[in-house]
Amino acid sequence: VIRLRGMLLLLLVALTLPATARDYNTMYSAQQLQRANAVYSPNILAVLHEDIAPYLLPAEKQTLEAVTLLQPWDRTVDPFEFAARADTREILIPTFSVKFFDELAIATAWFERFDCRKETIGDYVAALDFSTLQLPPILAALSLPEDAYKLDSFVDDVSQKALKSAVAFLLMHELAHVHLNHASYDRISANTAQQQEAQADAFAMRIMRRMRLPPLGMAVWFNAISLRDPLLPGSNRQTHPLTSSRLQAIADELRRQPYDFISSENRGKISEAQIVATAGDFETIATLMDTPDMRTYLRQRGSQVTLEQLATACN
Ligand SMILES: [Zn+2]
Repeated sequence: VIRLRGMLLLLLVALTLPATARDYNTMYSAQQLQRANAVYSPNILAVLHEDIAPYLLPAEKQTLEAVTLLQPWDRTVDPFEFAARADTREILIPTFSVKFFDELAIATAWFERFDCRKETIGDYVAALDFSTLQLPPILAALSLPEDAYKLDSFVDDVSQKALKSAVAFLLMHELAHVHLNHASYDRISANTAQQQEAQADAFAMRIMRRMRLPPLGMAVWFNAISLRDPLLPGSNRQTHPLTSSRLQAIADELRRQPYDFISSENRGKISEAQIVATAGDFETIATLMDTPDMRTYLRQRGSQVTLEQLATACN
């Protein structure tokens, strides 16, 4: 009995050990990231200064004019890293994060188009934190070709819209941190950090509404970050993990006059019902996040998935 108890204790300790941050340095080659940087960086600069800028109020525009947009190709700390510093007025958009999200959006659209098991995409994301497997980039892991978007016009269209709207939202969220002169997260309480996140989201949603930009990619983004380890050591997630109230606030914004998010050119292509459905997606993610033992569930999902399961989910 004593030995069994010892083993049980060991097992418990093993189950509660913190996940360690994955090393992303080898996920893409330097050449791949440099090539991606050449494609993405002028586009992202244009999203900020051509697509978003006309919808900013004068004071917001003044902030934008003082901002430096950093798009390093060689920063691979985390695939979901987008950040801002108010004191230096810098917005950081690592090419690695954009490339990773682009592939995630393509994989999501592909799985929808060909009716594959969509949970597998979530398994891959959970595995980033909770598995020790050497993971290839998501398209390679799912055995999808790197140019999958070229093979199907639905996949191309949906993934491009998702990338564009998610990047626009994230740029505006980061711009908000600069505009509202938010403090660095290492100097404030978790509670204040959560408030800053909510304020930055609200700022971004206000401008999305002015732009009449449909929020179609945001659910892909938030779904993915909801599947990560909320307590990864050394990460911002430890002080202010994504909360269900943050997701609910975005859902509420989408439900309030959903018509606002449909531009004249999108009339007939996107319906109010689709915007409301996106709000529902956010609420589903929020509900799942509030499930007791969410982290245990994520650990199970992420640590149990095999490369074989990933590679055969859509064939
Ligand atoms: Zn933020």
